[in-house]
Amino acid sequence: MSTLDSRITDTKAILERIAADFTPAVFASSLAAEDMVLTDLILRAKLPIAIFTLETGRLHKETVGMIAKVREIYGYEIEAYRPETAAVDAYVAQNGLNAFYDSVEMRKECCRIRKVEPLNRALAGKRAWITGQRRSQSTTRAELAVQEDDPAHGMVKFNPLADWSEEDVWNYIRANNVPYNPLHDRGYPSIGCEPCTRAIQPGEDVRAGRWWWENPESKECGLHVVDGKLVRIKQTA
Ligand code: SF4
Repeated sequence: MSTLDSRITDTKAILERIAADFTPAVFASSLAAEDMVLTDLILRAKLPIAIFTLETGRLHKETVGMIAKVREIYGYEIEAYRPETAAVDAYVAQNGLNAFYDSVEMRKECCRIRKVEPLNRALAGKRAWITGQRRSQSTTRAELAVQEDDPAHGMVKFNPLADWSEEDVWNYIRANNVPYNPLHDRGYPSIGCEPCTRAIQPGEDVRAGRWWWENPESKECGLHVVDGKLVRIKQTA
C-alpha cells in the first residue's frame, strides 16, 4: 500500500471514529484544497458530520464560489456563518475598512469579529470539530496533533490531515476529481480573506502569502488561539 493509500485509510478511520463517538461533530472548511479532500471523504462516506464555512464578507469570489461547486457536485449545502453586521459596521466606522494593515492588534480584532465570533457560534453545542490543517503548512503548525483537547471551545479538535504532505493533498484531488478553488492554480497555496492573501513565488513558504506584512509567529487568525497565544495542546490519543 502506498503512503497516500495508508494515509487515506487512516483518515477515513479517524472520520468514522469521530462520527461514531463525537456526535454532534462539525467540520470547519475554509474551502481550500485540504478542506476539499476532507469534504470529499465525509460526503462520499455519507458521514453525519456537518460542514460549515466562515463567510467573513472579505473572501475572494472564487472561494465563495466553492460553496456552489460543492452544492452542484455533491448536492450538499455547506452552511455559511457570517459576522454580526453591527460589529463589522462599528469596526469599519471606527477604524476604516482595511485597518488590519495598521497593526497586529487591529488585524486580530478584525479576525475576531469576522472569524472567531462566528466560529464560536458554529461550534456551540458540539462535541468535536475538525480542521484541514497540516503540520507542514507553517512554523506555527509544526507540532499539530491529529487529536487535541480544545479547552477554549470545551471540546475535542481533530486535524485528520496533520501528517499529509501538500503532494498527498494534490494527488488525492487529482485521483478523485475533487473540485478545488481555482486560486490554487494562480499561486495561492493558502487562501484566506482577499485583502489578507496574496500569491507567492515557487519555493516560498506555503503560508508566505497570508498576512505577509506580519512576523511568521503571529500568522494565525485566532481560531486556534486562546488569550492571544497560540495553543499547542497535548495530544490525547
Ligand atoms: S483575514 Fe483579514 S479581512 Fe479576514 S478577518 Fe482576518 S484581518 Fe479581517
